[in-house]
Amino acid sequence: MNHPGLQYPMFGPEIQCPHCRQIIPALTLTDTYLCPRHGPFEADPKTGELMHLQSGRNWRQWEGEWYRQHTHPDGIRFEIHEALDRLYTQGYRATRVVIAQRYRDLISSYLERSNPWRSQPDSQRLRLYGLPVEFSPDPLEEPCWDVINFDLDKEPGAPSRPPYFRMFE
Ligand SMILES: [Zn+2]
Repeated sequence: MNHPGLQYPMFGPEIQCPHCRQIIPALTLTDTYLCPRHGPFEADPKTGELMHLQSGRNWRQWEGEWYRQHTHPDGIRFEIHEALDRLYTQGYRATRVVIAQRYRDLISSYLERSNPWRSQPDSQRLRLYGLPVEFSPDPLEEPCWDVINFDLDKEPGAPSRPPYFRMFE
């Protein structure tokens, strides 16, 4: 038997550590990658996810980038908040956030509802940090939405509301 490809975990002989972005090696004949700073990560060929053994955090990969998979609403809310903060410092304001379908149940009760007296569909009323929220297309149509968490529409300029980056201070 000679299957050299099978000696390595599913992401190949080396990966970028999702935490420190250092290139870290696989341990042959295991599903494990070892970061000298962050310890072992385990690839799961069934779920296609990479798990940090010490924290239980999971990532999926899309076009060479790791995307953290959230299991708590605060996780994804905080990630969106950080992205808004980054946009703001680059001189942009967000006009809409599209959140992956798979987080719909997790995050729905955390969204604000604007104009509750109007008979608009939910998709036009949901807001997060004052931004209109939509959910992504089905990943069967656009596979990236099985991996990435959200996408922001943006335009140049300062936010019309007071900067949302104070919200977590
Ligand atoms: Zn690391």
